[in-house]
Amino acid sequence: MPLRDMVVYPNMIVSLFVGRKKTVRALEESMQQGRKIALAAQRQAQIDDPALEDIYEVGTIVRILQVLKMPDDSFKVLVEGQERIRIRGFRARDNYFTVDYEVSPYEIQTGAIVQTAMRNALELFGKYARLSKNIPADILTSLNRMKDPHRLTDLMAEQLPFPVDKKQKLLEMVKPLARLEALAELLYNEIELREIERRIKGRVRKQIDITQKEYYLNEQIKAIRKELGQKDVESENEELVQRIKNAQMPKGAEDKATKELARLDRMPPMSPEATVTRTYIEWLVALPWSFQTPEKLDLRIVARTLDKDHYGLRKVKDRVLEYLAVRKLAPKMKGPILCLVGPPGVGKTSLARSVAAAINRKFVRISLGGVRDEAEIRGHRRTYIGAMPGKIIQSLKNAKSRNPVFLLDEIDKMGSDFRGDPACALLEVLDPEQNQAFNDHYLDLDFDLSNIMFIATANIFQNIHPTLRDRMEIIEIRGYTQEEKTQIAQRHLNARLLEEHGLTTKDLVLSRPMIEKIIAEYTFEAGVRNLNREISALMRKVTRLKVEKKSPLKAKELTALELTKLLGPPKILRRKGEKADVVGIATGLAWTENGGEILTIEVVPLPGKGQLILTGKLGDVMKESGQAAVSYARKHAKDFHIPPDFYHNSDIHIHVPEGAIPKDGPSAGIAMAAALVSAFSGIPIRKNTAMTGEITLRGRVLGIGGLKEKLLAAMRAGIKTVIIPHENQKDLVDLPVEVTRSLEIKLVQNMQQVLEVVLAREKRSQVKTRKAYAKKAREQTKQPVDQNGISPPAVM
Ligand code: ADP
Repeated sequence: MPLRDMVVYPNMIVSLFVGRKKTVRALEESMQQGRKIALAAQRQAQIDDPALEDIYEVGTIVRILQVLKMPDDSFKVLVEGQERIRIRGFRARDNYFTVDYEVSPYEIQTGAIVQTAMRNALELFGKYARLSKNIPADILTSLNRMKDPHRLTDLMAEQLPFPVDKKQKLLEMVKPLARLEALAELLYNEIELREIERRIKGRVRKQIDITQKEYYLNEQIKAIRKELGQKDVESENEELVQRIKNAQMPKGAEDKATKELARLDRMPPMSPEATVTRTYIEWLVALPWSFQTPEKLDLRIVARTLDKDHYGLRKVKDRVLEYLAVRKLAPKMKGPILCLVGPPGVGKTSLARSVAAAINRKFVRISLGGVRDEAEIRGHRRTYIGAMPGKIIQSLKNAKSRNPVFLLDEIDKMGSDFRGDPACALLEVLDPEQNQAFNDHYLDLDFDLSNIMFIATANIFQNIHPTLRDRMEIIEIRGYTQEEKTQIAQRHLNARLLEEHGLTTKDLVLSRPMIEKIIAEYTFEAGVRNLNREISALMRKVTRLKVEKKSPLKAKELTALELTKLLGPPKILRRKGEKADVVGIATGLAWTENGGEILTIEVVPLPGKGQLILTGKLGDVMKESGQAAVSYARKHAKDFHIPPDFYHNSDIHIHVPEGAIPKDGPSAGIAMAAALVSAFSGIPIRKNTAMTGEITLRGRVLGIGGLKEKLLAAMRAGIKTVIIPHENQKDLVDLPVEVTRSLEIKLVQNMQQVLEVVLAREKRSQVKTRKAYAKKAREQTKQPVDQNGISPPAVM
């Protein structure tokens, strides 16, 4: 009986399955002839009808113990190995094989070496059994009891999954030691293989364990989120897919968003990286890549809106209208960026807001005050923790439109430090050549800013970064006159604030004198911001009275008394011009962020050695201008009967009161020179006269800035005559008539002309005593300084 893929050893009891016709016949025949049959393994299992050379020569004679017929006509046969045989040849092979054979038993060999080899094999087998786990425990027990090396080898070999040729080899060997050693080698290999298998399995299992753990936890998170009523991650990601589709992004941006989304899908949803990526995609989809509001460029409507919202500001409104007209006819032309420059509260912001409303664009505003870091404009790279896009992109996201009116507020207050210069980033934003592809560091994609209408504002022109200044068209908005403020309050603020406070004209009427009183006594500013605030404060109080039903207002029209009761005593006490002609005191005009201001300049000669003392927190320019004034006075001393060596034995102290407020600029030059000449000549300076102008050493008077504010300040202070440089004549055209009407304006070219106006004209009696004046002045310089270090008043 040829065996397909097994070897039966002489000492074994095994069951065989018999199906082939020839073998079944052989089985039947042997059942009748003493139940014995010769078995030998085939060299190749797949051969169905093997020849002699296909069968190994060494096999086994077995006794058939039991035959079971199976339902499919095959047989299950239980056999017991008896003797090892060597086949000599076939006798017949038609119905079944018959062979000639000789019995060839294993050799018998005993001794310590065989014993050791047996123990070694047993040990290895035990190890193998532990690794493979499918050797029954009773087999191990019976193996341990075995004394015969051949039985031991056969039983082990039978249990092991070696290929048939290896098992056959073991059958063919006859020496016990050789057989045991061959078996041990096979066992070694098998154990090695099992160990490798076990390691691989272990690794795979670990991997599976981790994945399973993550899966399990993620499922739990999902369940928790569901319980909390939050969306689960998958639907969130799906929503992002939809939002990417809806965002109408340019190709590059869409590709990037899709790529990032694919990355996001592969990340554990709760990892920090996923949060960063999701935030990024959310930024991308929230930007108005191609959404814009349809622009309405009807100049009449714009003009009407601007007029409705703002009083005055004729020049500014005209310039805005011109700008829009150009845009209408030549939409492709890149107009300059408008920059409104002026003190706070003159309506720069609200004008820009009106423009946006009038042309149907969204309005956004960013404040650049205190911005020092380039990243605030252009964003941080995404590699930084907590990175965000810059202010430009952030505002566009909020505007939800890519063509808003974009107000860059306080562009002059932008600084720069080691973190880069925000002005450079802003240049890129404003430059029409570059801003079609503005690259925010966070987005790392180009965004088209060319549809935005940028308007900048600044308080002080000089403080704007020079390169930015070049890109912009500057429109100056000066401070308002008292009259203009009154008009603004009457026409705009009053009605708006009444409505905001839930009041009507039945509750409160602010008469013109009351408004003027608020402006004069409660505010001190170039714009109308504080006026707005004071009127609001007033209305809040009236509202409260109304709600508490205490209405103390006798009539709805507010009286001056009630005003003081509600707003408290006046907050601003205006400095007035000098009430009498005085020696050594001149009135200058200054310009501040809040508008104009009058400035007193005092000069006293002190006994000393020609030292010049300048006090009053003066800046370098102002100090130098003081020195220039002194040099002028020294040069022209004899014109005023001042001894040319007057400074030899006196110090000169020039002081500008309100010492805590820093002052600077060259425009107090002529006032200082006038005060000096007056102090040393003893000729008083006219009351109600103010002056502004830069002085040169030869006494020429140069032009100054901020004329309107200065004249307004002079008007408020009750000044009658103002001396201004001839060079500033051109600025007079823009002045409101009320200014030119109430002030006598003297244009001067040199210091001589200044002094002619400002020194009090001498009466005949005074001419006689002029020399006496001068003498007295000189004597005065010799008077001792009192204990406090203050010289006696210079009034004469
Ligand atoms: P700025 O931006 O110049 O500091 P705002 O635009 O904030 O000033 O103006 C402050 C307030 O004053 C706003 O409520 C504004 O409406 C009002 N305002 C300023 N100028 C005018 C004006 N000419 N007509 C009407 N209201 C004005």
